[in-house]
Amino acid sequence: KVRVRFAPSPTGGLHLGGVRTALFNYLFAKKHNGTFILRVEDTDQTRFVSGAEEYIVSCLAWCGIHPDESPQQGGAYGPYRQSERKPAYRQYAEQLVASGNAYYAFDTPEELDAKRKEIPNFLYGASSRTQMRNSLSLTSDEVETLLAQDIPHVVRIKMPEDEHVSFIDMIRGHVSFDTNLVDDKVLLKADGMPTYHLAVVVDDRAMEISHIFRGEEWLPSAPIHILLWRYLGWEDEMPQWAHLPLILKPDGNGKLSKRDGDRLGFPVYAQNWTDPKSGYLTKGFKELGFVPEAFVNLLAMLGWNDGTDQEIFSLPELIEKFSVERISKAGAKFDFEKAKWYNHEWIKNAEAENLLATVKQELNTKGIVPADDSYTLQVIDLIKDRCNLLTDFVAQGEYFFAAPAAYDLPSVKGKWNAEKATFFTAFDAELTDEMPAAEMEAKFKELAAAHSLKPGELMLPFRIMLVGGKFGPGVFEIAFTLGTQETKNRISLALA
Ligand code: GLU
Repeated sequence: KVRVRFAPSPTGGLHLGGVRTALFNYLFAKKHNGTFILRVEDTDQTRFVSGAEEYIVSCLAWCGIHPDESPQQGGAYGPYRQSERKPAYRQYAEQLVASGNAYYAFDTPEELDAKRKEIPNFLYGASSRTQMRNSLSLTSDEVETLLAQDIPHVVRIKMPEDEHVSFIDMIRGHVSFDTNLVDDKVLLKADGMPTYHLAVVVDDRAMEISHIFRGEEWLPSAPIHILLWRYLGWEDEMPQWAHLPLILKPDGNGKLSKRDGDRLGFPVYAQNWTDPKSGYLTKGFKELGFVPEAFVNLLAMLGWNDGTDQEIFSLPELIEKFSVERISKAGAKFDFEKAKWYNHEWIKNAEAENLLATVKQELNTKGIVPADDSYTLQVIDLIKDRCNLLTDFVAQGEYFFAAPAAYDLPSVKGKWNAEKATFFTAFDAELTDEMPAAEMEAKFKELAAAHSLKPGELMLPFRIMLVGGKFGPGVFEIAFTLGTQETKNRISLALA
């Protein structure tokens, strides 16, 4: 039975790497008719940010990633917030102490700091733990006394000496770690809360997680988790791990960070996120004008492909084609131009109907309130091919809703003359109601010939009269969409 989880910590906005992790878990679950779980890992109270959980839930919903079990909808394995599972963890920490695989440590934060200052790269482990204050270095009487006095203490895992911990990663294959290089991580904090390491193992087992897809940055934690599964006697229930390749900066130079977006002028968050403490707003893909289908598509391609040249995939198609074998080990560069290309493809091929609501919203922000949906749908169909972002519909489409306030006259000036003005007066007189674009074009050319003018010289002035600039789809299509009356109005306005 496939059961996977996305286990974010509610510490802030959701970086695109986080959404990709959710997506790969989701694709794997759905591909195998399994269950996709959202579990909130909020045991670190110092890093908890209010609103972050709601934000994560809303980002997933926007992407069309709907959990089968979550804090919001519950499920048979709840609660789905680790802070609500607190009582479960201590017994496992105690069990590990009893079996000799963990120990109490009474070192104060000051003592630890002093040690770190004294020894650079200090590692709390086999070579140093006897110099510290813990149940391995103190006598059992001393330990009893400290415990009886309720002296604050943590529980640490006892990393074995001179061992190698290995496992088969679904993406990386055989991976091995030297235990001498891994420190005795804290499992239970002085406040009784588990750390991530203990909670993740206890909950993955309790929730019967079968496979774990998570970012490569968690690979160094794998040996600790594997030992915990072993020491708790659950080794044969251990899930399979897949550590997803890093998402790299556009130049491939290191991991893409949250700060890179601001620095390089592109979003790295799924949706706008305002930090509740500083009030600082980090822009999101959604508000920047991405359609969720494109966002999901581009995330899937960060480290995966189906082995062909195909680049455009819908979510159902991704579910069908997803395979772990085709996830790459190498980091994936994030390229914002490419991201916009995906969005352009999705917008271009979308049904106008599906874009209508968002496009109207965008127009509203500029004070344009389209009255007639069927007209707006026509406009969308005419210009969607020219939009990379949903926000582009404003610049590309506003002239359909209001005559240009200004004309880019210098671009016609010099080429503009009395003959051309006469031509447009004549053309205006020829326009009849609902004249189709092709007929209008024929008429335009015929008249140009009659006036001994080249149609090519007249096209740009006509466009500027209708659009106010040198852009947009075919000028006769624009005129047809605007309607004869509005076209005539704009010609006379420009000739006045
Ligand atoms: N809570 C961890 C995070 O914030 C989860 C890591 C894991 O999947 O084990 O990403």
